[in-house]
Amino acid sequence: MPTQTSDDAFAEVKAKVDLVKIVSEHVRLTKRNTDYWGLCPFHQEDSPSFHVIPQRQIWHCFGCERSGDVFTFVELIEKTDKRGALQMLAERAGVELKKLSPEQKERAEGRKRILDMLKLAAQYYEYVLWKTPAGEPGRKLLESRRVSEETARKFQLGYAPAGRGFAEYLRAKKRSLVDAQEAGLMRRDGTDFFAERLAIPIRDERGQTLAFTARTVRQDEQRKYINSPETPAYIKGRVVYGLDLARDEIARRGHAVVMEGQFDVITAHHFGVANAVASSGTALTDDQVRLLKRFSDELLLVFDSDSAGREATRKAAVLAAGHGMRTRVVTVPGAKDPDEFLRSAGPDASARWEELVARAPSGFEAGMEEDSAGLNPSKPNQVEMVAARLRAWIRQFPPGMHESYAEAAERHTGISRHLLLEEPEAKPVPRPQNGSRQRAPARKLTASAYLVQLLAIRPVAFDRVRTKITAEELDSDDRPVFIRMLGSYERGGPAGLEADLAGYPGEEQDLIRRAWAAPPPNVDDEVADELADRIRLEHMKGMHSGIIRQLSEAERGLDSEKVVRLEAEAGALARAIRELERRG
Ligand SMILES: [Zn+2]
Repeated sequence: MPTQTSDDAFAEVKAKVDLVKIVSEHVRLTKRNTDYWGLCPFHQEDSPSFHVIPQRQIWHCFGCERSGDVFTFVELIEKTDKRGALQMLAERAGVELKKLSPEQKERAEGRKRILDMLKLAAQYYEYVLWKTPAGEPGRKLLESRRVSEETARKFQLGYAPAGRGFAEYLRAKKRSLVDAQEAGLMRRDGTDFFAERLAIPIRDERGQTLAFTARTVRQDEQRKYINSPETPAYIKGRVVYGLDLARDEIARRGHAVVMEGQFDVITAHHFGVANAVASSGTALTDDQVRLLKRFSDELLLVFDSDSAGREATRKAAVLAAGHGMRTRVVTVPGAKDPDEFLRSAGPDASARWEELVARAPSGFEAGMEEDSAGLNPSKPNQVEMVAARLRAWIRQFPPGMHESYAEAAERHTGISRHLLLEEPEAKPVPRPQNGSRQRAPARKLTASAYLVQLLAIRPVAFDRVRTKITAEELDSDDRPVFIRMLGSYERGGPAGLEADLAGYPGEEQDLIRRAWAAPPPNVDDEVADELADRIRLEHMKGMHSGIIRQLSEAERGLDSEKVVRLEAEAGALARAIRELERRG
């Protein structure tokens, strides 16, 4: 029976793989007692709510409320289906699957054929570069760039000669030319797609070649670089160039140096900057930031000093902050890019590089300095203009950072921080309109903080609260303790909190003990419901204004598809907000 066979396969594979090991290839996990915690890969957050329980081989996110086993994890992270997840895990576990859907099988085999072909091409190009007269133009180019053979071999650089060299090579090996065409290496007529170019393999973080980018050696060629097309093996914007070589140094140094171009990275490694990687294309993508976050919490951004480079730097700083990562910005003096800077510094390159790193401002500071350059404080209209720019800059970062960034901008420009913050933060909880329900918490206590105190005293209220809100909707200060208390409640029921308390961080223990000693005015399920509704409402309003901001951006960018989608999202949210307000 087919279903029987497939159930067996799931069980067999599950018994052979370790969820913690699979998850930790994508998420940095920290062990706490017997469980593991990390930042959820499926939603944006800055405090860990992603929870893995090894004994039961399950995971759960208290933020986005996704959960499941090893198969659901792989399904979500690899953007595949259940069958695809089974197949990937079976391969790792060495379990042979009898029943694969024909399309699944075909896709997997197609991908494998392409990867094999790319590997073969990299070997062939490298051979041509170093061992044949045809490789001469490539060797000359490297020489002019001062890239040694040792460095070039690390990156497996190669040279694609003119004509049909690779096709002949494949024929001699009795390999199919169709595979090479599908891998984006060859045109229909058998000519090499990368002919007369230095071929640079684009490898994933494990060193597997997924594509090529290729630089011309001809002066008269208009297109300096050309790239492999997307294939089943290669999705643009997912790969970080050089990460396979840089990952250990990134972990050791505590930061990754992110450059724009592949040649910047090759030169950087040549001069000893071994934690350098490239975004390959100006803008750093969300997927690339996630990938880098597995190895480090800090990015050192070194983009070109033109306006596109500065814009890319700003975007990367904001994107990284959204993932809870720090950024710093290195500007190379007197050179258009790091490649040029390092080459002209020659033997001093590594020392001069360290000087730049030591004085690199944070991503926020770099943008702030740019926005306030040349400000004359005695001219009110200039002050206003700079304040507006800085307000917009601060607003792009997560709300938890606004206060301290406004403070830093005040110190730097002398403009009052109140002018730099759009609206005062930490509003007191609005009192209920209905006079008969005088349960409103004391002033200054936010709804989110009140709820945490209430749950500390009355953990059973989690039963109601967790169906209404997720940790993400609380103020960021209250999230970790909320998540931890929920974990204790789920494991140990109403007595779980008391049992686990000794293992909590000191400040959370204090907070909970204070709540026990001096409870807020009312602690019952009805208040819990009321608070959860308020928190949800505030959160939705915040999201709504976020969407409205994106909407005006999309409208300016004439991205009509995005406009339609955002309008629908904003409309649905506005309806939900009205509905909640009507009930509340
Ligand atoms: Zn999540």
